[in-house]
Amino acid sequence: PKVDNPYSGAKVYVNPEWSAKAAAEPGGSRISNQPTGVWLDRIAAINGVNGGMGLRAHLDKALEQKGSGELVVQLVIYNLPGRDCAALASNGELGPTEIDKYKTQYIDPIASILADPKYAGLRIVNTIEIDSLPNLVTNTGSRPTATPQCDVMKANGNYQKGVGYALNKLGDAPNVYNYIDAGHHGWIGWDDNFAPSAALFKEAATTEGATVNDVHGFITNTANYSALKENNFTINDSVGGKSVRESSWVDWNRYVDELSFAQAFRNQLVTTGFNSGIGMLIDTSRNGWGGTARPAGPGALTDVNTYVNGGRYDRRIHIGNWCNQSGAGLGERPQANPATGIDAYVWMKPPGESDGSSQFIENPEGKGFDRMCDPTYTGNARNGFNLSGALPNAPISGHWFSAQFQELMKNAYPAL
Ligand code: BGC
Repeated sequence: PKVDNPYSGAKVYVNPEWSAKAAAEPGGSRISNQPTGVWLDRIAAINGVNGGMGLRAHLDKALEQKGSGELVVQLVIYNLPGRDCAALASNGELGPTEIDKYKTQYIDPIASILADPKYAGLRIVNTIEIDSLPNLVTNTGSRPTATPQCDVMKANGNYQKGVGYALNKLGDAPNVYNYIDAGHHGWIGWDDNFAPSAALFKEAATTEGATVNDVHGFITNTANYSALKENNFTINDSVGGKSVRESSWVDWNRYVDELSFAQAFRNQLVTTGFNSGIGMLIDTSRNGWGGTARPAGPGALTDVNTYVNGGRYDRRIHIGNWCNQSGAGLGERPQANPATGIDAYVWMKPPGESDGSSQFIENPEGKGFDRMCDPTYTGNARNGFNLSGALPNAPISGHWFSAQFQELMKNAYPAL
């Protein structure tokens, strides 16, 4: 029988591989005992890549860490056909049509491991397919942000089929908790995207045998940088008769931060047909925005842009920037039940792992080079043609990026 909030009264699995990399960094032992997500980012990750730990090795280790208490293991299911259709940095190994391979060589083997009675005492949280369904909402069709790859995935339906199949197969085990990825406020928070995203999630969650009962909740801000709570302004403020929604930073969004978005989106999801008991997770691994650039109070009331820009913690050049952001810091430490409707703050993206390479780097993982990771790039429609804000000299996505790890510790909020 599933519990309402798997994080309640439970420890969370510390990935020994991430932990060792963090501990090897100067100052890294301050956070190396934090729980982070285990990304199953390709078929080979199930058995372990390059001699590294596979899924069973992680679950066996998790049993050790569990002892006699409760323990959550956080997995990221991330290998859809045509993965990362609006970007190149996390393109994966499966082509747009390889849905059968996704099912039989990726989801089925994971499902059979999770169903092993040996692991029945672990609470297994799956976060399902980061960025995929949101991309179908915002980066398709006649929108200026559309990409040909996302149009292909929308037309073939393989993101919905893959998500539905994963929810159905993985959700069968009584100790498995599925959370679907729901983007972040700087993506889904606009009226054009908010209800349509909930509707698409419902569609995916009722395909391929899945039902809303296979969905325990949703996760926002995975691997993103959106601030948890902007204390220096709210969506209801106005300056000189102009709403903050008219500022260039907010740009008509309904939300200015992740917490308000996640809580409101939870309500929308319930309205759309998901169970009223669903809970939200927020990835706070890299949304701290502390350090010397953090504003001490609200911006000046000169005009709405001065007010918002002077007060906002999120120092990104544009909210559409997503790759290795300069100035970012570790956010809230992982914790259960932090706010109404929120099951946990989690570090799903392991701090120190790159979002993508700053230049093209040959690799066998299917990873492309996305210029959003190049600090000299002047942008595209998805970031309002702004500079990318990315740190230089980054390795390909998922690989260790020491300079970013140091930056995240330096700008942590709460500070370390
Ligand atoms: C990469 C994955 C990696 C994950 C966690 C993603 O951007 O594509 O390969 O496992 O980040 O760092």
